Amino acid sequence: MEVCEGCGLPIAGGTAGCQALFDEFRAREMSELAPTYASTRLTVDVYCLQHPDRYCVSAKSLAAHLTGVGWAVERAGGDWGLRALQR
Ligand SMILES: [Zn+2]
Repeated sequence: MEVCEGCGLPIAGGTAGCQALFDEFRAREMSELAPTYASTRLTVDVYCLQHPDRYCVSAKSLAAHLTGVGWAVERAGGDWGLRALQR
């Protein structure tokens, strides 16, 4: 079994397999769960933090994903706060 180089998940296809699993989840999330901006943002932020070599290259990216997860976990992740963090 190959392993994702980003998060260490044992998965067929390694890193590409992990990305495909994430893409599949995102497609299901969008079509079946009617996600809010906050839940979508949390999904993306967590994946990016699990794959820092690819998605947290700059301090700005890392800060954006960390603050997004922090806002979701600590403050229930309302859209207004996420948009304020982006500004
Ligand atoms: Zn991965």
